[in-house]
Amino acid sequence: MIDLYPGVALYLARRRGLSLDGKEVTDREALPCFDPATGEEIGEVALATPGDVDCAARAAHQAFQDKRWRGKTPAERQRILLRVADLIERDAALLAGLETLNGGKLYGAALHGEVPHCAETFRYYAGWVTKLGGGTFEPSVPGARYHAFVREDAIGVAGLITPWNGALVAASWKLAPALAAGCSCILKPAELTPLSSLYLARLLTEAGVPDGVVHVLPGAGRDIGAALVRHPLVAKISFTGSTAVGEQLVRESAANFTRLSLELGGKSPVIIFDDADLDRAIPAAAEAIFSNAGQVCVAGSRVYAQRAVYDRVVAGLADHARAHRLGPGVDPASTMGPLISAAHRQRVAAMVETARSAGADIVTGGVTVGDKGYFYAPTVIAGATQDSTIVQEEVFGPVVTVTAFDDEGTALRLANDSRYGLAASIWTRDAGRALRLAEDLEAGIIWINEHGIPELAMPIGGVKKSGIGREHGLEGLKAFTETRSVMLRL
Ligand code: ADP
Repeated sequence: MIDLYPGVALYLARRRGLSLDGKEVTDREALPCFDPATGEEIGEVALATPGDVDCAARAAHQAFQDKRWRGKTPAERQRILLRVADLIERDAALLAGLETLNGGKLYGAALHGEVPHCAETFRYYAGWVTKLGGGTFEPSVPGARYHAFVREDAIGVAGLITPWNGALVAASWKLAPALAAGCSCILKPAELTPLSSLYLARLLTEAGVPDGVVHVLPGAGRDIGAALVRHPLVAKISFTGSTAVGEQLVRESAANFTRLSLELGGKSPVIIFDDADLDRAIPAAAEAIFSNAGQVCVAGSRVYAQRAVYDRVVAGLADHARAHRLGPGVDPASTMGPLISAAHRQRVAAMVETARSAGADIVTGGVTVGDKGYFYAPTVIAGATQDSTIVQEEVFGPVVTVTAFDDEGTALRLANDSRYGLAASIWTRDAGRALRLAEDLEAGIIWINEHGIPELAMPIGGVKKSGIGREHGLEGLKAFTETRSVMLRL
């Protein structure tokens, strides 16, 4: 077992308070935090109340009005965000420990993958602070001259609602562009995984983000999240989570026309043609679904394999599934961690049972593993019909269906036959075919001979019921600005 950095135990030794107006507030009801690899309680945080949402919104709004953050020069804000990245790296062992214990991550993946990626996210958006701008235009109004320009201004108070499957990454993906744009932020982490977000709030303060600009409120979605969405001082909600909650937010945001970015569910297809390099495609398809035990929004949960290679793809995925060693993220021998909770594992298991009773072939997996923690065996399913729940609904676990197809047209039709449209990957040596498909696939991000590479310069987000808006890139920054036009008559 890895000896976690001693700071992790120290951090967990006492109740962590919510981060409100620059203060750590602990005198609230306790929200216990659990390790999904053992089911044991590892610490507790203070549970925010709807009143705290109101306090945070007022304080964040005040900070926005008095311009204590957005009024700093771009270079100053850039330096502070770069310092955040350095502090994330300084405390990488602690943050990775929290993500492992609270989020069920593999420690090595957290330490060498997710945490450095969070630091890079702050660096990427720090770079934009000094470059964001609008433009000047020559109006066509007859008989008058103008000096006319377009500004990109911070949108106001941004409510950031994150899921449990990548708590620190999701928090960074939202905080970095929101702060780069000049917004004040209220972050509501998922109730299961608040620890790393609360720690990140400390780093933001240490880096020089002024008090009142960022607040972190752990609590349940239905009261704290909902109060945030309804609050009239919150101008923007950036949400990552389920499609069901996303639909609710669209309705609730109507009251104030609150701007929304929604990154929702996915059922991303992996299309493997018979000319593909299977030595790369099969391990990559396995990684696309089994990484983080399938609890990834862009997980490749529907594999479509051309008839001639179908058997090899099914067998190859099953081999990869059986080779996994399930165990806690602190054990270096583990290659797959647990699902996040007992309830979630039950849901995953029930979906596989429904597929089994509908006549699908559970090639491997389909069982819970061990008597401690929430482990579920990597599962490969063949012979499920296109209209079945297991092919149509997001499982958010290590469960992949494999379906055969004969030609390109059928592959496209099957891949697009989904209410979701987050990501897709195409595996072929025929570049023309890949690009043809890329034009017609209904997905916000498409990889060719690759799956699931996070790239901060490339906007990511969904079409159809996978969401609205984009994260990453300039689009991700503009999600936190309002475009405004100014015309001066000369
Ligand atoms: P998941 O299935 O990943 O838990 P959810 O959509 O339930 O997805 O949760 C994602 C985030 O949305 C969490 O932070 C959760 O607390 C929050 N949330 C859930 N319901 C609501 C709601 N009605 N309003 C606002 N936020 C919510």
